[in-house]
Amino acid sequence: MDSVGVAAAAPDAGPGPAWQSKCPWGAPNTASMSCSLADVMSEQLAKELQLEEENAAFPEVVAVAEGPFITGENIDTSSDLMLAQMLQMEFDREYDAQLRREEKKINGDSKVSISFENYRKVHPYDSDSSEDEVDWQDTRHDPYRADKPTTTPRRGFIGKGKDITTKHDEVVCGRKNTARMENFAPEFQVGDGIGMDLKLSNQVFNALKQHAYSEERRSARLHEKKEHSTAEKAVDPKTRLLLYKMVNAGMLETITGCISTGKESVVFHAYGGNATEDKVIPPECAIKVFKTTLNEFKNRDKYIKDDYRFKDRFSKLNPRKIIRMWAEKEMHNLTRMQNAGIPCPQVVILKKHILVMSFIGKDQVPAPKLKDVTLSSEDMKKAYYQTLNMMQQLYKECNLVHADLSEYNMLWHDGKVWLIDVSQSVEPTHPHGLEFLFRDCRNVSQFFQKGGVAEALNERELFNAVSGLNITADNEVDFQAEIEALEKMNEDHVQNHGKKLSTFSSDGDPPIYDE
Ligand code: ADP
Ligand code: MN
Repeated sequence: MDSVGVAAAAPDAGPGPAWQSKCPWGAPNTASMSCSLADVMSEQLAKELQLEEENAAFPEVVAVAEGPFITGENIDTSSDLMLAQMLQMEFDREYDAQLRREEKKINGDSKVSISFENYRKVHPYDSDSSEDEVDWQDTRHDPYRADKPTTTPRRGFIGKGKDITTKHDEVVCGRKNTARMENFAPEFQVGDGIGMDLKLSNQVFNALKQHAYSEERRSARLHEKKEHSTAEKAVDPKTRLLLYKMVNAGMLETITGCISTGKESVVFHAYGGNATEDKVIPPECAIKVFKTTLNEFKNRDKYIKDDYRFKDRFSKLNPRKIIRMWAEKEMHNLTRMQNAGIPCPQVVILKKHILVMSFIGKDQVPAPKLKDVTLSSEDMKKAYYQTLNMMQQLYKECNLVHADLSEYNMLWHDGKVWLIDVSQSVEPTHPHGLEFLFRDCRNVSQFFQKGGVAEALNERELFNAVSGLNITADNEVDFQAEIEALEKMNEDHVQNHGKKLSTFSSDGDPPIYDE
């Protein structure tokens, strides 16, 4: 499932001011300087080259490409880039169509057909239907390596008796060499030599062949580089194009700016666009773009690998798909929470690694994190009881453990706490589910105790209150040991019965599926 539609209407936030809607990327707040398209493009090129260089020099540094929506200054430029990209896509498609026509012409009704597939510009990764795309780590047939042109037989001559022709026969070889140029890649301009009965010497032919090969290799390298740099940045051109399409389709009105850049995601603010028949778009949206940087996600393996909901799928997937799975996971978890009535962002749409949800905040200002807001002692107490309640609901009704719960992922909005950032949330029966829950409890307990809530349970009491378990250990170490023993018991149970069953769930409810 690639997208989901949820009827959503944020209650009070009004649509953006009229001036916002003129440019899909937001209103530039600096007057754009007039310059020619050529200038813009070359500047763009220079930037890209520099970025490429930087990426090569500091592969660990994850750079976020300056998107049009990140800063106001480069909106026009980036729109041009976008246009150029779309034009290029159009051009590539036409090129491929032409290639297909040529292919057809050459093959005709022949039983043996040749394919130009390797020379196509739009590769699966570029196309929209890239669900089955092959990642660069896959070792597939190298599309850039052309089959070698037929060479003179190894014995160095052909024919018999007086008709014998050696590879040194200038006329015959010259003609043959010219004809063999046809074996170069289609985009390699060989001119009209074939029609002109041009005779190429072996030396010239070999030089040309060498050149054609190195051109191909160069092109292959460029493609490779492009894909790798895509992996370095979250908001790569493809993501930008997807976002652009959302604006173009009227789903979003304006993408105004970046709210947050984390290690694993970038979050943007956007004004919602027009509602469709089956979907109401909230007036303000948050767009969470999961970074396509693989390094950062490696250490998250344990969350998803052991989550039985994703188990079967994990091993078969390429890294890009795994990242989409994080986005998908967040969507599913938010939907479960929504159904349980827990205050959290409402899912609008999921598109590949981009999750659009309702914005918690108002007029482009995101609601503050609990760690950044100063609450009255009354509100603090209120926030605590609400949090306790939500944790219980999350566990019992949603069958989930947040697994990254702290004052960093709780927002204060409309006089209550909102939970966000649930892509890593797991079911309690996850092999480390209870440890994650205990960590959540520790964070929550410490935060509210430090915040002066005298009633706040300590982490062990909170754990028991949320899980319904009755672990009696009165110190941290023993408590932790008991938790791990329970997890182990559950794992053994799974091993023996081949099915995940909660041996310790108080009510034994089956997992709640939201589809
Ligand atoms: P991560 O911490 O993994 O980078 P989060 O989901 O926590 O991703 O988002 C990062 C920040 O973006 C949050 O701390 C919050 O400030 C902001 N944010 C995320 N989602 C929303 C939302 N729906 N509404 C408002 N702000 C949001
Ligand atoms: Mn977060």
